[in-house]
Amino acid sequence: MLTVKEIYKEYDALPLLNGLSFEVAQGELVCLLGSSGSGKSTMLRIIAGLEEPASGRIFWNGQDITQLPAHQRGFGLMFQDYALFPHKSVAENIAFGLRMAHTPKEEIDQIVRQSLESIRMLSFSDRPVTELSGGEQQRVALARALAPDPRLLMLDEPLGALDHNLRTELINELRQRLHASQKPVIYVTHDQEEAFALADRLLLLHEGRLIQEGSPEEVFRRPANAWVASFLGLGNLIPAARAKNGQIETEIGTLALPTSSCPETLHQGEQFSLLLRPEDAQLGLPAQENALSIQAQVLDCIFFRDYFRIEVTIKDQSLIIYSQQAFQPGKEIFVHWSEEDILCLPN
Ligand code: ADP
Ligand code: MG
Repeated sequence: MLTVKEIYKEYDALPLLNGLSFEVAQGELVCLLGSSGSGKSTMLRIIAGLEEPASGRIFWNGQDITQLPAHQRGFGLMFQDYALFPHKSVAENIAFGLRMAHTPKEEIDQIVRQSLESIRMLSFSDRPVTELSGGEQQRVALARALAPDPRLLMLDEPLGALDHNLRTELINELRQRLHASQKPVIYVTHDQEEAFALADRLLLLHEGRLIQEGSPEEVFRRPANAWVASFLGLGNLIPAARAKNGQIETEIGTLALPTSSCPETLHQGEQFSLLLRPEDAQLGLPAQENALSIQAQVLDCIFFRDYFRIEVTIKDQSLIIYSQQAFQPGKEIFVHWSEEDILCLPN
């Protein structure tokens, strides 16, 4: 379906997109996830044809559309701030794209009515969009993007302007509506929770490059590097290096890791990071030797509904662990991670 090939873009001689390539298949929901300012909106505008890449090409079903004007691409784009027309009613906003495409009036009326019904806002038809709540505006903006039946739908931080509770509520609704549309979707967000809840496939954008691509589960289980693990908040990252004898040295202990969790490609002396997930921490001394085992002091203990979030310190390192049990600050405890739970990540 959509193929994005080696897209480069710079602003003020600074590279923003540094050779981005990816594909989106029919019916697939792809989330482009990256921090603010990483070039996500720029990438969408290039696909939409609202902006030109410095180099690289965009294909639709194998056909090069890089030079095709935006209105001939048949793509729908929902902007970050919705960009609804404030002086127009809800119905007029939804009808806009259809009118631009010279759709017959009866057909427009029918599509607008159907889409208002699907978002349960039929009675809002004549209301100015300025009188809608944030959540209602979001629904109308999505309805407007879907009304012309685009062959690809792109959403730029569609929940970004809403408060947290409403966002959580709308994520499920959005997922259902996007899957029901059966359209290929590119969903842009800086919010990893949103991306993980929605995506069939994640694309992680950092410093102009796609650092990792995979299903939410793959990315969660096997983050490609320390940045990914840190960006996704997967857990404690400890600086590490491989010593002469092949063992892994860290400031909090030495351990021998199997190549499955620490590839040979991380050579002797090279700096990398160990990922120690809070939920994998076990308390007490390990039954076998195959573990990273530490004695640490409890700094803080917070109740988190179904576990305690405990901050411990060891040799100036602060680590987070989750426990079913509460501990008083100041207490010394033994914590260990089994070898199979530890990942070595390139920095
Ligand atoms: P994101 O959507 O990931 O937050 P953007 O694609 O909006 O990132 O933009 C990333 C950066 O690119 C911006 O911080 C800005 O510095 C630069 N940029 C984007 N568009 C323009 C433009 N039209 N002119 C100059 N700089 C721009
Ligand atoms: Mg943006």
